[in-house]
Amino acid sequence: MTKNEIAVLVKDSSLIKFLKKFFKSRKTYRAIFFDNPALLMQHLNENKPLVIIVEASLLPKVSDRITKFPTIAVISGNIKLGIDKAVYHNANRYIYKPFFENDLEYKLESIIIEKDSTERLRSESKELEAIIDLTNLISTTLDQKEILFRIVRKISELMPVTRCSIIRVDWLHKYAFVVATFEDPNITGIKLSLRKYPEIIEALQSKKPVIVKDIITDPIMQSVRDIIKPLGIKSILVLPIIFREKVIGTLFLRTSRKVHTFSANEVRLLNAIASASANALYNAFLFEQVEDEKTRLEKLAITDYLTGIFNIRYFYHRIIEEFSRSQRYAFPVSSLMLDIDHFKKVNDVYGHKTGDMVLKEFAQLVKKHLRKSDVFARYGGEEFIVLLPQTSLDGAVVEAERIRKCVKDHKLKSLKNKAQLTVSIGIATYPDPRIKTHDDLIACSDDALFTAKQRGRDQIVVCEK
Ligand code: GH3
Ligand code: MG
Ligand code: MG
Repeated sequence: MTKNEIAVLVKDSSLIKFLKKFFKSRKTYRAIFFDNPALLMQHLNENKPLVIIVEASLLPKVSDRITKFPTIAVISGNIKLGIDKAVYHNANRYIYKPFFENDLEYKLESIIIEKDSTERLRSESKELEAIIDLTNLISTTLDQKEILFRIVRKISELMPVTRCSIIRVDWLHKYAFVVATFEDPNITGIKLSLRKYPEIIEALQSKKPVIVKDIITDPIMQSVRDIIKPLGIKSILVLPIIFREKVIGTLFLRTSRKVHTFSANEVRLLNAIASASANALYNAFLFEQVEDEKTRLEKLAITDYLTGIFNIRYFYHRIIEEFSRSQRYAFPVSSLMLDIDHFKKVNDVYGHKTGDMVLKEFAQLVKKHLRKSDVFARYGGEEFIVLLPQTSLDGAVVEAERIRKCVKDHKLKSLKNKAQLTVSIGIATYPDPRIKTHDDLIACSDDALFTAKQRGRDQIVVCEK
């Protein structure tokens, strides 16, 4: 298909003569002549002529198939009948006998100008629609991942691209992460080494769009040419997503395609999409930061500052919950009270600061040996408590013994692997005739702990009935 092809369907011999002469002296057009409507229609299956010239009498045979193309009707017989046909079949222009080359020339030119401007208008309004559409879509969601995915998907709908991703750059560590790609909303976090993406580095440094028209010739791609060549990519476009003159979270839109390069229109459209998204993305970022901070604060509020395990406030909250669940559904629930043996000595020999480190190490060690469902908290000082939901006395004994042993066997890194600790553990389990409340459960395990200390420490004791 040539860009300036004119498809001609005429049978009248004087007309053929006139048109052949006309096109012979005009090299800007390439005319293809058909004398059979079926052949023209077959030709249209794979070709898109600029204009179609049809003899008015043949219009009814092809009019359904040529509505998309600018058409000039040529009237060789009865003028009135011919004009009626031309109008009825929506021909854009018509000429009639006597034919003048100037007349045809003028009509051809004007029809082409008209076609160009209609197409431009159509594509501009499509672009505008896409941007409005996208802004609407993304302003209704605060989920950053969703916004990012919608942007890339929209782009892939608007233009043929091989790949379209939004990339977050970790400049410090020289990595880029794909945070969204149109193939799949769940593809996020793929790590790319920036070394292999010089075009992203260029966009990062210049904060401007980078258009690699042809990866084979563009000097930017020199260092990676051999790697990227087999991928068959022709051109790449990288756009920084900018909000108030700042590249947001170092986000880049990277699109590549195999065949054509990006046209000025497409670059303009992508740029508009990147700017339209920036605002929404910025809000989503803020929202996520606030959410993260909220989560951090919430976590802080239930964490013991020294050991990093739960604090007693959270423990009470959970034991109340678990105790009433046990009462309701007749599940057992157990409590282990732990106290480090002779901890005062650690402070006396190594100092209070080292004592703190030992406490932290102890807590992390015990935590490693617990189950996910257990609630492990610092009760106060060097005393700790474990809530074992849905655990019978037998289960609690096994767990307590496991803890006791792991503590005894562990060489403390905070004491340069030179010393070990031992721990005494008191165990209580509900149901038990003396336990009516969650406080009773705690008190019983504390009593058992007292007995363990009295009996010589480094042991587990079950609350006696
Ligand atoms: P036992 O339990 O075996 O009877 O002996 P103990 O020496 O561990 O007992 P005691 O309860 O008398 O002493 C607890 C010590 O733990 C006293 C206190 O200085 C120390 N301690 C409590 N909280 C902290 C803390 O946060 N950091 C440090 N370094 N020491 C603490
Ligand atoms: Mg102690
Ligand atoms: Mg104590």
